[in-house]
Amino acid sequence: MRLREFEGPMELLGKSKEELRILRIALGEPAFRGAQIYHALYAERKFDVGQITNLPVALRERLSKEARVTLPEVKQRFASADGSVRYLYALPEGEGKETSRPASVEAVFMPSEGRQTICISTQAGCAVDCHFCLTAQLGLIRNLTAGEIVAQVLLPLEEHKAQLAPPFEAQGKQTNIVLMGQGEPLLNFEPVMAAVRILLDPGGMGISPKHVTLSTSGIVPGIERLAQEKMRPKLAISLNASNDEQREELMPINKKYPLSMLMEACKNYPLRTWEHLTFEYVMLGGLNDAADDARRVVRLLAPLKSVKVNLIPWNPGELPYRESSPERIEEFRRILVDRGVPTFVRYSRGRDVMAACGQLALLQVQSSPLTTLRSAL
Ligand code: SF4
Repeated sequence: MRLREFEGPMELLGKSKEELRILRIALGEPAFRGAQIYHALYAERKFDVGQITNLPVALRERLSKEARVTLPEVKQRFASADGSVRYLYALPEGEGKETSRPASVEAVFMPSEGRQTICISTQAGCAVDCHFCLTAQLGLIRNLTAGEIVAQVLLPLEEHKAQLAPPFEAQGKQTNIVLMGQGEPLLNFEPVMAAVRILLDPGGMGISPKHVTLSTSGIVPGIERLAQEKMRPKLAISLNASNDEQREELMPINKKYPLSMLMEACKNYPLRTWEHLTFEYVMLGGLNDAADDARRVVRLLAPLKSVKVNLIPWNPGELPYRESSPERIEEFRRILVDRGVPTFVRYSRGRDVMAACGQLALLQVQSSPLTTLRSAL
């Protein structure tokens, strides 16, 4: 049997353990060959089948001809003064129903004492249209494949491996992944979950589920579906408002999934013993940062069991919003904390290279005619 998919060689990156098990059956190889390829790809980060030296030479030669490992092309790297690196990846055009606009996505590598965090994208562009987000201006270009999602983690880890302490790096203990780049992860559910399983699998990338967070704008059916998954990341909800009127203004998706529906899904979400739901709240000066907003957020979250809130100061830039003053942010935080809601202020990393929250599309937006769409806001 040949391994070719359609016209070209079979893509290995993004394949699950089970898919590689089927592949080794097709190859007429013993059972452990699939597991060897899986481990080499995701745990050892061998991106050339010729480098998988524990495979017999004949098999390596066959795989070199009939299979491939495609990494996205790094179009540009932007190094921040704070040590973060923002990657701009070029992706091939989509096929079939997807748009044929050229796609590029961003990921950000953020090293800090004893660990590193990688923020990755799940779609090129996004259809959700949150008004405070530059990615929204691109519209949805296309969904990413599982391989394209996993590659955004593999590449920076490989590039920075010299800086990572070997015992921890090998076990993936020091790596945090946040699915908070371009795109709404729950609107690209299958590829995102296929990538997450590889990230979390101890035989794959071996990252703890405590260290992988998926952030959603509040796609209720997606939250309900995620709740059924055996292997799943932590969940964060991008809240950003204290009532429906305000949230609809900022996030039109709230018309489809209003706060009552979203909070009900959160209430029913099965938390593991160590887990809490995180609510992200971008602080927009004069818009959602009043003391009354803080009190309403407390009331919204009151029925939920274990929550925490991250307040994200707004990054001034292209969009017509203001920063909240530090005093206002502190007052907001204090109101929540005094009523028993653990609340933290999270400053975005990589601000000088536009790698901060909501800015992961600036390069494309600046060179796109779509820029004008949001400037009317
Ligand atoms: S904030 Fe997230 S869900 Fe909303 S438009 Fe931007 S990328 Fe999409």
